[in-house]
Amino acid sequence: MDKFTRPTGTQDLLPAEQPYWEYVTSSAAATARRFGYERIETPIFEATGLFARGVGGATDIVEKEMYSFRDKGDHALTLRPEFTAGVVRAYIENGLHTLPKPVKLFSLGPIFRYERPQAGRFRQFHQFNAEIFGIQDPLADLETMLLAWDLYAGWDFKGLAFQLNSTGCPVCRPTFSAALRDYYQSHLHEICEDCKRRLETNPLRVLDCKQERCQPVIAGAPQSIAHLCEECSTHFTSLRSYLDALGRPYTINPRLVRGLDYYTKTVFEVWAEGIGAQAAVCGGGRYDGLIELLGGRPTPAVGFAAGLERIILVMKAQGLTPPALPVPPVFIAFSGDAARATAVRLVVDLRAAAIGAQIAMGGSLKAQLRQADKAQARFVFIIGEDELARGEVNFKDMATGTQLTVALGTAAAQVSQALAAC
Ligand code: ATP
Ligand code: MG
Repeated sequence: MDKFTRPTGTQDLLPAEQPYWEYVTSSAAATARRFGYERIETPIFEATGLFARGVGGATDIVEKEMYSFRDKGDHALTLRPEFTAGVVRAYIENGLHTLPKPVKLFSLGPIFRYERPQAGRFRQFHQFNAEIFGIQDPLADLETMLLAWDLYAGWDFKGLAFQLNSTGCPVCRPTFSAALRDYYQSHLHEICEDCKRRLETNPLRVLDCKQERCQPVIAGAPQSIAHLCEECSTHFTSLRSYLDALGRPYTINPRLVRGLDYYTKTVFEVWAEGIGAQAAVCGGGRYDGLIELLGGRPTPAVGFAAGLERIILVMKAQGLTPPALPVPPVFIAFSGDAARATAVRLVVDLRAAAIGAQIAMGGSLKAQLRQADKAQARFVFIIGEDELARGEVNFKDMATGTQLTVALGTAAAQVSQALAAC
Protein backbone atom coordinates (compact mmCIF):
# COMPACT_ATOMS: atom_id res chain seq x y z
CA MET A 1 0.00 0.00 0.00
CA ASP A 2 1.15 3.53 -0.76
CA LYS A 3 1.77 5.63 2.30
CA PHE A 4 0.32 9.10 2.00
CA THR A 5 2.29 12.07 3.25
CA ARG A 6 1.28 15.70 3.55
CA PRO A 7 1.96 17.83 0.46
CA THR A 8 5.35 19.63 0.39
CA GLY A 9 5.24 22.96 2.20
CA THR A 10 2.15 22.15 4.29
CA GLN A 11 1.94 21.34 7.98
CA ASP A 12 -0.18 19.28 10.33
CA LEU A 13 -0.94 21.55 13.24
CA LEU A 14 -1.04 18.92 15.96
CA PRO A 15 -2.73 19.36 19.36
CA ALA A 16 0.60 20.28 20.98
CA GLU A 17 0.83 23.32 18.66
CA GLN A 18 -2.74 24.46 19.25
CA PRO A 19 -2.12 26.62 22.35
CA TYR A 20 0.00 28.88 20.09
CA TRP A 21 -2.66 29.02 17.38
CA GLU A 22 -5.53 29.62 19.75
CA TYR A 23 -3.60 32.36 21.54
CA VAL A 24 -2.39 34.12 18.40
CA THR A 25 -5.72 34.04 16.54
CA SER A 26 -7.92 34.94 19.49
CA SER A 27 -5.72 37.79 20.68
CA ALA A 28 -5.32 39.15 17.12
CA ALA A 29 -9.11 39.21 16.73
CA ALA A 30 -9.55 40.80 20.17
CA THR A 31 -6.95 43.50 19.43
CA ALA A 32 -8.57 44.26 16.04
CA ARG A 33 -11.98 44.57 17.71
CA ARG A 34 -10.49 46.93 20.29
CA PHE A 35 -9.50 49.17 17.35
CA GLY A 36 -13.04 48.95 15.91
CA TYR A 37 -12.38 46.46 13.10
CA GLU A 38 -15.08 43.95 12.15
CA ARG A 39 -14.43 40.48 10.80
CA ILE A 40 -15.03 39.46 7.20
CA GLU A 41 -14.62 35.94 5.78
CA THR A 42 -14.27 35.53 2.04
CA PRO A 43 -13.91 32.28 0.05
CA ILE A 44 -10.60 30.44 0.04
CA PHE A 45 -10.76 30.32 -3.76
CA GLU A 46 -11.72 33.09 -6.16
CA ALA A 47 -11.73 33.62 -9.92
CA THR A 48 -8.11 33.49 -11.15
CA GLY A 49 -8.67 36.77 -12.99
CA LEU A 50 -9.27 38.58 -9.67
CA PHE A 51 -5.73 37.86 -8.50
CA ALA A 52 -4.17 38.30 -11.94
CA ARG A 53 -5.64 41.83 -11.99
CA GLY A 54 -5.67 42.68 -8.28
CA VAL A 55 -2.24 41.38 -7.33
CA GLY A 56 -0.62 42.21 -10.64
CA GLY A 57 0.55 40.08 -13.55
CA ALA A 58 4.18 41.05 -13.11
CA THR A 59 4.47 39.90 -9.50
CA ASP A 60 6.13 36.69 -8.30
CA ILE A 61 2.81 35.70 -6.76
CA VAL A 62 0.93 35.74 -10.05
CA GLU A 63 3.84 34.65 -12.25
CA LYS A 64 5.03 31.70 -10.18
CA GLU A 65 3.21 31.11 -6.92
CA MET A 66 -0.51 30.61 -7.54
CA TYR A 67 -2.37 27.36 -7.07
CA SER A 68 -4.67 27.67 -10.07
CA PHE A 69 -7.04 25.03 -11.42
CA ARG A 70 -10.15 24.53 -13.48
CA ASP A 71 -13.14 23.01 -11.71
CA LYS A 72 -15.62 20.60 -13.28
CA GLY A 73 -17.60 23.52 -14.66
CA ASP A 74 -14.42 24.77 -16.39
CA HIS A 75 -14.17 27.86 -14.18
CA ALA A 76 -10.63 29.19 -13.76
CA LEU A 77 -10.09 29.37 -9.99
CA THR A 78 -7.15 30.06 -7.68
CA LEU A 79 -6.55 29.33 -3.98
CA ARG A 80 -6.11 32.78 -2.48
CA PRO A 81 -2.44 33.86 -2.41
CA GLU A 82 -3.35 36.89 -0.23
CA PHE A 83 -6.46 38.40 1.33
CA THR A 84 -6.77 41.89 -0.07
CA ALA A 85 -8.07 41.16 -3.59
CA GLY A 86 -10.86 38.94 -2.21
CA VAL A 87 -11.78 41.44 0.52
CA VAL A 88 -11.95 44.25 -2.04
CA ARG A 89 -14.09 42.06 -4.34
CA ALA A 90 -16.46 41.44 -1.40
CA TYR A 91 -16.45 45.16 -0.49
CA ILE A 92 -17.60 46.06 -3.99
CA GLU A 93 -19.95 43.11 -4.54
CA ASN A 94 -21.79 43.56 -1.21
CA GLY A 95 -22.07 47.33 -1.45
CA LEU A 96 -19.96 47.95 1.66
CA HIS A 97 -18.94 51.28 0.08
CA THR A 98 -22.37 52.60 1.13
CA LEU A 99 -21.43 52.23 4.81
CA PRO A 100 -20.10 55.26 6.71
CA LYS A 101 -16.32 55.61 6.30
CA PRO A 102 -13.99 54.31 7.45
CA VAL A 103 -14.94 50.69 6.83
CA LYS A 104 -12.49 48.63 8.91
CA LEU A 105 -12.29 44.91 8.24
CA PHE A 106 -10.10 42.05 9.42
CA SER A 107 -9.72 38.41 8.33
CA LEU A 108 -7.88 35.34 9.55
CA GLY A 109 -7.25 32.19 7.55
CA PRO A 110 -5.13 30.09 5.21
CA ILE A 111 -3.20 31.47 2.25
CA PHE A 112 -1.58 29.46 -0.54
CA ARG A 113 1.62 30.19 -2.45
CA TYR A 114 3.77 27.81 -4.43
CA GLU A 115 7.09 28.82 -2.85
CA ARG A 116 10.30 27.01 -2.01
CA PRO A 117 9.61 25.75 1.52
CA GLN A 118 12.11 26.68 4.26
CA ALA A 119 11.98 27.85 7.87
CA GLY A 120 9.02 30.23 8.18
CA ARG A 121 8.06 29.76 4.52
CA PHE A 122 5.28 27.36 3.57
CA ARG A 123 2.94 26.68 0.67
CA GLN A 124 -0.09 26.75 2.91
CA PHE A 125 0.30 29.33 5.64
CA HIS A 126 -1.98 31.64 7.61
CA GLN A 127 -2.42 35.36 7.75
CA PHE A 128 -4.15 37.93 9.88
CA ASN A 129 -5.21 40.71 7.53
CA ALA A 130 -6.64 44.16 8.26
CA GLU A 131 -7.88 46.92 5.95
CA ILE A 132 -9.27 50.44 6.33
CA PHE A 133 -11.39 51.65 3.38
CA GLY A 134 -12.35 55.18 2.49
CA ILE A 135 -9.80 57.38 4.28
CA GLN A 136 -7.09 59.35 2.45
CA ASP A 137 -5.75 61.04 5.59
CA PRO A 138 -2.41 59.58 6.80
CA LEU A 139 -4.19 59.01 10.11
CA ALA A 140 -5.50 55.78 8.50
CA ASP A 141 -1.91 54.72 7.72
CA LEU A 142 -1.00 55.49 11.32
CA GLU A 143 -3.96 53.48 12.71
CA THR A 144 -2.98 50.54 10.51
CA MET A 145 0.61 50.65 11.74
CA LEU A 146 -0.52 51.02 15.36
CA LEU A 147 -2.72 47.93 15.08
CA ALA A 148 0.22 45.94 13.71
CA TRP A 149 2.40 47.26 16.52
CA ASP A 150 -0.14 46.50 19.27
CA LEU A 151 -0.50 42.92 18.06
CA TYR A 152 3.19 42.22 18.53
CA ALA A 153 3.54 44.35 21.65
CA GLY A 154 0.57 42.41 23.09
CA TRP A 155 2.48 39.17 22.54
CA ASP A 156 5.52 40.73 24.34
CA PHE A 157 7.72 40.61 21.25
CA LYS A 158 11.18 42.02 21.78
CA GLY A 159 13.16 44.10 19.30
CA LEU A 160 10.13 45.52 17.48
CA ALA A 161 10.79 48.11 14.80
CA PHE A 162 8.91 49.65 11.91
CA GLN A 163 10.50 49.77 8.48
CA LEU A 164 8.94 52.53 6.45
CA ASN A 165 9.02 53.81 2.89
CA SER A 166 6.84 55.60 0.37
CA THR A 167 6.81 54.44 -3.21
CA GLY A 168 4.70 57.32 -4.48
CA CYS A 169 1.62 57.27 -6.67
CA PRO A 170 0.76 57.09 -10.38
CA VAL A 171 1.76 60.78 -10.66
CA CYS A 172 5.31 60.49 -9.33
CA ARG A 173 6.15 56.81 -9.68
CA PRO A 174 6.87 56.96 -13.42
CA THR A 175 9.66 59.50 -12.76
CA PHE A 176 11.14 57.25 -10.12
CA SER A 177 10.80 54.12 -12.30
CA ALA A 178 12.59 55.97 -15.09
CA ALA A 179 15.42 56.99 -12.72
CA LEU A 180 15.68 53.40 -11.54
CA ARG A 181 15.79 52.06 -15.11
CA ASP A 182 18.45 54.63 -16.09
CA TYR A 183 20.60 53.62 -13.15
CA TYR A 184 20.16 49.90 -13.82
CA GLN A 185 21.02 50.34 -17.51
CA SER A 186 24.60 51.06 -16.47
CA HIS A 187 24.66 47.97 -14.18
CA LEU A 188 23.02 45.40 -16.46
CA HIS A 189 26.02 43.05 -16.45
CA GLU A 190 26.00 42.95 -12.61
CA ILE A 191 22.39 41.88 -12.00
CA CYS A 192 20.47 38.61 -12.12
CA GLU A 193 18.23 37.49 -15.00
CA ASP A 194 15.07 38.00 -12.94
CA CYS A 195 15.98 41.63 -12.32
CA LYS A 196 16.60 42.21 -16.04
CA ARG A 197 13.07 41.02 -16.64
CA ARG A 198 11.64 43.00 -13.70
CA LEU A 199 13.17 46.18 -15.13
CA GLU A 200 10.78 45.79 -18.05
CA THR A 201 7.69 44.57 -16.20
CA ASN A 202 7.77 45.96 -12.65
CA PRO A 203 10.98 47.97 -12.09
CA LEU A 204 10.43 48.69 -8.37
CA ARG A 205 10.69 44.99 -7.68
CA VAL A 206 14.44 45.00 -8.45
CA LEU A 207 14.83 46.70 -5.06
CA ASP A 208 13.69 43.67 -3.07
CA CYS A 209 15.66 41.10 -5.08
CA LYS A 210 17.20 38.58 -2.67
CA GLN A 211 20.05 37.46 -5.01
CA GLU A 212 23.57 38.06 -3.63
CA ARG A 213 24.92 39.58 -6.86
CA CYS A 214 22.21 42.25 -6.97
CA GLN A 215 22.87 43.61 -3.46
CA PRO A 216 25.65 46.13 -4.28
CA VAL A 217 23.56 47.47 -7.17
CA ILE A 218 20.52 47.86 -4.91
CA ALA A 219 22.66 49.67 -2.32
CA GLY A 220 23.56 52.40 -4.82
CA ALA A 221 20.11 52.69 -6.45
CA PRO A 222 18.05 55.90 -6.49
CA GLN A 223 15.47 56.19 -3.69
CA SER A 224 11.74 56.65 -4.18
CA ILE A 225 11.38 59.20 -1.37
CA ALA A 226 13.62 61.57 -3.34
CA HIS A 227 11.11 61.45 -6.23
CA LEU A 228 7.78 61.96 -4.45
CA CYS A 229 5.26 64.48 -5.78
CA GLU A 230 4.04 67.18 -3.39
CA GLU A 231 0.96 65.24 -2.29
CA CYS A 232 2.91 62.05 -1.56
CA SER A 233 5.67 63.98 0.13
CA THR A 234 3.20 65.78 2.44
CA HIS A 235 1.47 62.48 3.21
CA PHE A 236 4.78 60.86 4.13
CA THR A 237 5.85 63.83 6.26
CA SER A 238 2.62 63.85 8.27
CA LEU A 239 2.74 60.10 8.84
CA ARG A 240 6.30 60.49 10.10
CA SER A 241 5.33 63.34 12.39
CA TYR A 242 2.54 61.23 13.95
CA LEU A 243 5.05 58.44 14.60
CA ASP A 244 7.62 60.91 15.94
CA ALA A 245 5.06 62.46 18.28
CA LEU A 246 4.21 59.00 19.65
CA GLY A 247 7.88 58.10 19.95
CA ARG A 248 7.48 54.93 17.84
CA PRO A 249 10.85 53.94 16.41
CA TYR A 250 11.03 53.44 12.66
CA THR A 251 13.70 53.18 10.01
CA ILE A 252 13.27 54.62 6.54
CA ASN A 253 14.07 51.67 4.32
CA PRO A 254 14.42 52.70 0.67
CA ARG A 255 14.45 49.03 -0.39
CA LEU A 256 11.01 48.45 0.97
CA VAL A 257 8.59 47.90 -1.89
CA ARG A 258 5.67 45.51 -1.74
CA GLY A 259 5.65 42.71 -4.26
CA LEU A 260 2.19 43.87 -5.30
CA ASP A 261 1.36 46.42 -7.99
CA TYR A 262 -1.51 48.22 -6.34
CA TYR A 263 0.34 49.77 -3.42
CA THR A 264 0.58 53.58 -3.40
CA LYS A 265 2.40 55.90 -1.01
CA THR A 266 3.06 54.22 2.35
CA VAL A 267 4.81 50.84 2.56
CA PHE A 268 5.76 49.38 5.93
CA GLU A 269 6.89 46.23 7.66
CA VAL A 270 7.24 45.29 11.31
CA TRP A 271 10.50 43.56 12.13
CA ALA A 272 11.14 41.50 15.22
CA GLU A 273 14.21 39.82 16.73
CA GLY A 274 14.66 36.12 16.51
CA ILE A 275 14.10 34.75 13.02
CA GLY A 276 17.16 35.97 11.15
CA ALA A 277 16.55 36.47 7.46
CA GLN A 278 12.79 36.20 7.89
CA ALA A 279 12.77 39.26 10.13
CA ALA A 280 9.58 40.73 8.63
CA VAL A 281 6.63 39.53 10.67
CA CYS A 282 4.16 41.66 8.78
CA GLY A 283 3.92 43.88 5.76
CA GLY A 284 1.43 46.40 4.51
CA GLY A 285 0.74 49.78 3.06
CA ARG A 286 -1.65 51.94 1.12
CA TYR A 287 -3.38 50.79 -2.06
CA ASP A 288 -5.48 53.68 -3.29
CA GLY A 289 -5.68 52.28 -6.82
CA LEU A 290 -7.02 48.80 -6.15
CA ILE A 291 -10.75 49.28 -5.62
CA GLU A 292 -11.16 51.14 -8.89
CA LEU A 293 -8.93 48.61 -10.66
CA LEU A 294 -11.34 45.88 -9.55
CA GLY A 295 -14.43 47.73 -10.75
CA GLY A 296 -15.40 49.81 -7.69
CA ARG A 297 -15.50 53.55 -7.17
CA PRO A 298 -12.13 55.21 -6.53
CA THR A 299 -11.57 54.54 -2.80
CA PRO A 300 -8.46 55.11 -0.75
CA ALA A 301 -7.43 52.10 1.33
CA VAL A 302 -4.64 50.96 3.62
CA GLY A 303 -3.94 47.62 5.25
CA PHE A 304 -1.47 44.94 6.26
CA ALA A 305 -1.05 41.20 6.51
CA ALA A 306 0.79 39.31 9.23
CA GLY A 307 2.04 35.74 8.82
CA LEU A 308 0.90 33.60 11.76
CA GLU A 309 3.56 30.89 11.30
CA ARG A 310 6.26 33.57 11.58
CA ILE A 311 4.61 35.04 14.65
CA ILE A 312 4.69 31.62 16.30
CA LEU A 313 8.29 31.08 15.15
CA VAL A 314 9.30 34.36 16.82
CA MET A 315 7.35 33.48 19.97
CA LYS A 316 9.33 30.25 20.23
CA ALA A 317 12.66 31.95 19.42
CA GLN A 318 11.97 34.58 22.09
CA GLY A 319 10.83 31.98 24.66
CA LEU A 320 7.26 33.30 24.83
CA THR A 321 4.76 30.65 25.88
CA PRO A 322 1.01 30.80 25.28
CA PRO A 323 -1.49 30.11 28.04
CA ALA A 324 -2.51 26.44 28.32
CA LEU A 325 -5.81 25.51 26.70
CA PRO A 326 -8.66 24.65 29.06
CA VAL A 327 -9.28 20.94 29.71
CA PRO A 328 -12.41 19.36 31.21
CA PRO A 329 -11.98 19.56 35.00
CA VAL A 330 -13.84 16.33 35.69
CA PHE A 331 -13.04 12.72 34.80
CA ILE A 332 -15.32 9.80 35.54
CA ALA A 333 -13.78 6.41 36.26
CA PHE A 334 -15.87 3.32 36.90
CA SER A 335 -15.72 -0.42 37.21
CA GLY A 336 -18.44 -2.90 36.28
CA ASP A 337 -21.48 -2.82 34.04
CA ALA A 338 -23.88 -1.34 36.59
CA ALA A 339 -21.43 1.49 37.25
CA ARG A 340 -21.11 2.16 33.52
CA ALA A 341 -24.76 3.23 33.15
CA THR A 342 -24.41 5.52 36.19
CA ALA A 343 -21.16 6.96 34.81
CA VAL A 344 -22.82 7.76 31.47
CA ARG A 345 -25.76 9.46 33.21
CA LEU A 346 -23.38 11.48 35.41
CA VAL A 347 -21.19 12.71 32.53
CA VAL A 348 -24.29 13.83 30.62
CA ASP A 349 -25.70 15.61 33.69
CA LEU A 350 -22.42 17.41 34.38
CA ARG A 351 -22.18 18.67 30.80
CA ALA A 352 -25.81 19.80 30.96
CA ALA A 353 -24.74 21.86 34.00
CA ALA A 354 -21.96 23.37 31.79
CA ILE A 355 -19.21 21.48 33.62
CA GLY A 356 -16.53 20.00 31.37
CA ALA A 357 -16.33 16.27 31.90
CA GLN A 358 -15.05 13.13 30.22
CA ILE A 359 -15.74 9.49 30.85
CA ALA A 360 -13.26 6.59 30.90
CA MET A 361 -13.60 4.34 27.89
CA GLY A 362 -12.01 1.16 29.11
CA GLY A 363 -9.13 -0.24 31.14
CA SER A 364 -8.79 -1.16 34.82
CA LEU A 365 -9.63 1.42 37.48
CA LYS A 366 -5.91 1.95 38.00
CA ALA A 367 -5.40 2.62 34.28
CA GLN A 368 -8.40 4.96 34.27
CA LEU A 369 -6.91 6.98 37.13
CA ARG A 370 -3.64 7.28 35.23
CA GLN A 371 -5.66 8.48 32.26
CA ALA A 372 -7.42 11.07 34.46
CA ASP A 373 -4.03 12.30 35.62
CA LYS A 374 -2.78 12.58 32.04
CA ALA A 375 -5.93 14.44 31.03
CA GLN A 376 -5.11 16.93 33.82
CA ALA A 377 -8.52 16.47 35.40
CA ARG A 378 -8.78 18.28 38.71
CA PHE A 379 -11.60 16.10 40.04
CA VAL A 380 -12.32 12.42 39.51
CA PHE A 381 -15.48 10.50 40.29
CA ILE A 382 -14.75 6.86 40.98
CA ILE A 383 -17.85 4.73 40.64
CA GLY A 384 -17.41 1.25 42.13
CA GLU A 385 -20.09 -1.39 42.46
CA ASP A 386 -20.05 -1.55 46.28
CA GLU A 387 -20.49 2.21 46.75
CA LEU A 388 -23.08 2.29 44.00
CA ALA A 389 -25.15 -0.30 45.86
CA ARG A 390 -25.27 2.25 48.71
CA GLY A 391 -26.16 5.09 46.32
CA GLU A 392 -22.73 6.67 46.72
CA VAL A 393 -19.68 7.53 44.61
CA ASN A 394 -16.11 8.50 45.46
CA PHE A 395 -15.03 12.03 44.66
CA LYS A 396 -11.29 12.74 44.50
CA ASP A 397 -9.48 16.06 44.31
CA MET A 398 -6.38 15.21 42.25
CA ALA A 399 -4.53 18.34 43.37
CA THR A 400 -4.81 17.69 47.11
CA GLY A 401 -5.35 13.93 47.07
CA THR A 402 -8.42 14.22 49.33
CA GLN A 403 -11.16 11.72 48.66
CA LEU A 404 -14.78 11.89 49.85
CA THR A 405 -17.72 9.58 49.57
CA VAL A 406 -20.73 11.54 48.37
CA ALA A 407 -24.37 10.71 47.63
CA LEU A 408 -24.84 10.08 43.91
CA GLY A 409 -27.69 12.60 43.76
CA THR A 410 -25.41 15.42 44.98
CA ALA A 411 -22.53 14.72 42.57
CA ALA A 412 -23.13 17.70 40.24
CA ALA A 413 -23.61 20.09 43.17
CA GLN A 414 -20.43 18.73 44.76
CA VAL A 415 -18.35 19.55 41.63
CA SER A 416 -19.89 23.00 41.20
CA GLN A 417 -19.01 23.81 44.79
CA ALA A 418 -15.49 22.44 44.49
CA LEU A 419 -14.88 24.29 41.19
CA ALA A 420 -16.15 27.54 42.66
CA ALA A 421 -13.63 27.12 45.50
CA CYS A 422 -10.66 26.56 43.07
P1 ATP B 1 8.51 37.65 1.98
O1 ATP B 1 9.35 38.80 1.55
O2 ATP B 1 8.93 37.02 3.28
O3 ATP B 1 8.26 36.65 0.89
P2 ATP B 1 6.06 38.86 1.26
O4 ATP B 1 6.46 40.21 0.86
O5 ATP B 1 5.78 37.84 0.22
O6 ATP B 1 7.09 38.26 2.33
P3 ATP B 1 3.41 39.56 2.07
O7 ATP B 1 2.84 39.17 0.78
O8 ATP B 1 3.43 41.00 2.45
O9 ATP B 1 4.85 38.94 2.27
O10 ATP B 1 2.70 38.75 3.27
C1 ATP B 1 2.64 39.26 4.62
C2 ATP B 1 3.27 38.32 5.61
O11 ATP B 1 2.91 36.97 5.34
C3 ATP B 1 4.79 38.29 5.61
O12 ATP B 1 5.32 39.34 6.35
C4 ATP B 1 5.09 36.95 6.28
O13 ATP B 1 4.96 37.07 7.68
C5 ATP B 1 3.97 36.09 5.77
N1 ATP B 1 4.37 35.22 4.65
C6 ATP B 1 4.54 35.54 3.35
N2 ATP B 1 4.85 34.46 2.62
C7 ATP B 1 4.87 33.39 3.49
C8 ATP B 1 5.09 32.00 3.35
N3 ATP B 1 5.35 31.44 2.17
N4 ATP B 1 5.03 31.21 4.47
C9 ATP B 1 4.75 31.74 5.67
N5 ATP B 1 4.51 33.06 5.86
C10 ATP B 1 4.56 33.89 4.79
MG1 MG C 1 7.04 36.50 -0.75
